[in-house]
Amino acid sequence: MKQNEAIAQFDVASIRKQFPTLKQTVYGKPLIYLDNGATSQKPQMVIDAIDRYYSKENSNIHRGVHFLSQHATTLYEDARTTIQKYINAPSSDEVIFTSGTTGGINLVAFSFGELLNEGDEIIISAMEHHSNIVPWQLLCERKKCVLKVIPINSKGELIMAEFDKLLTDKTKIVSITHISNALGTINPIREIISKSHSIGAKVLIDGAQSIQHTKIDVQELDCDFFIFSGHKVFGPTGVGILYGKREILDQMPPYQGGGDMIAKVTFEKTTYNELPHKFEAGTPNISGGIALGTAFEFLNQLDLNEVEVYETELLNYAQSELVKLDGLKIIGTAEHKTSVVSFVIDGLHPFDVGTLLDKQGIAVRTGHHCTQPVMDFFGIPGTIRASFAFYNTKEEVDILVNGLKRSISMLR
Ligand SMILES: *Cc1c(COP(=O)(O)O)cnc(C)c1O
Repeated sequence: MKQNEAIAQFDVASIRKQFPTLKQTVYGKPLIYLDNGATSQKPQMVIDAIDRYYSKENSNIHRGVHFLSQHATTLYEDARTTIQKYINAPSSDEVIFTSGTTGGINLVAFSFGELLNEGDEIIISAMEHHSNIVPWQLLCERKKCVLKVIPINSKGELIMAEFDKLLTDKTKIVSITHISNALGTINPIREIISKSHSIGAKVLIDGAQSIQHTKIDVQELDCDFFIFSGHKVFGPTGVGILYGKREILDQMPPYQGGGDMIAKVTFEKTTYNELPHKFEAGTPNISGGIALGTAFEFLNQLDLNEVEVYETELLNYAQSELVKLDGLKIIGTAEHKTSVVSFVIDGLHPFDVGTLLDKQGIAVRTGHHCTQPVMDFFGIPGTIRASFAFYNTKEEVDILVNGLKRSISMLR
């Protein structure tokens, strides 16, 4: 299909109607929401799911004999199954509710980390979000493991020849972002997974920026862990998913202790519950889990291939228009890229530009995007970042470009 045809076919107007936040004005101007990398807006059906839960369904789960508790349990477990099917996990036992990407990576870094020994090696990359750096640093301190970092080139791509050199028989896990939140780079995760597996290392994919843009099939990828946040995939905050292969999760000790994660507790010895409950201590974010299931029901109504083509076209259009602006430089020019355009403008501080855009109703993010090492690599304090979702339009890109022109003329 020609890209322009895809754009024409993709019915953005009817999609936008389902997102109430997009309909408002700020400072009397229509809101142009281009900060989807930070968090996505929610469709009405997700908002309704939360409202319905607290209006009619609220009850604690996995415990009660009474009607409401059983009903809430069914809804929560149905949501898990919806998500399991969406990512094609073999079993819902391998789909663990967490508090988000940060929560999921910390769980794995701690619990899988308990299986590691002094001198074992962990590989991450130079483009990771802080939440895929710091948990591994904590593990390295605790267990005297060694953290190695795949470098990037000036386009913001992983240098795969260096990755080959970093992999050794001491490598136990490679933890890598699928798509960079700061640069938009799509990493060659299939190659990373197969090379890592060939020397016996496990692979964790940080899917915080990919699950909302591309179809994920964890069995086809053959990753050992896949982690994402609910709020970036049109669901609520405070909930996320850790998918892990059963044989690895079974070997891992619990992360937190408490209710729901136990089989039997005595003061002498406690035995742990089965998956997934072993990793879900305490009362979870019940409404969040249910509404995240609803977010995936929303996604199930879309054709993700169409979404991908549409978003790629939007990105290409934005990039081609932005580079026409005097002194504007795009940071992150990888060959394989999606939905994020980060840039700097000669002589202007990103924060000042972001502030002037805001006054025109345009929401972008400025700063280091929780990836300070990336900013250090490019020798900049931060970028201005526009990040798109399928509900954004070419007209919004035009408004951004015009807003930038006005901001530049005011600041220069
Ligand atoms: C947002 C993000 C995270 C952290 O997600 P939280 O929802 O803040 O836990 C981690 N990695 C990437 C690539 C992200 O974009």
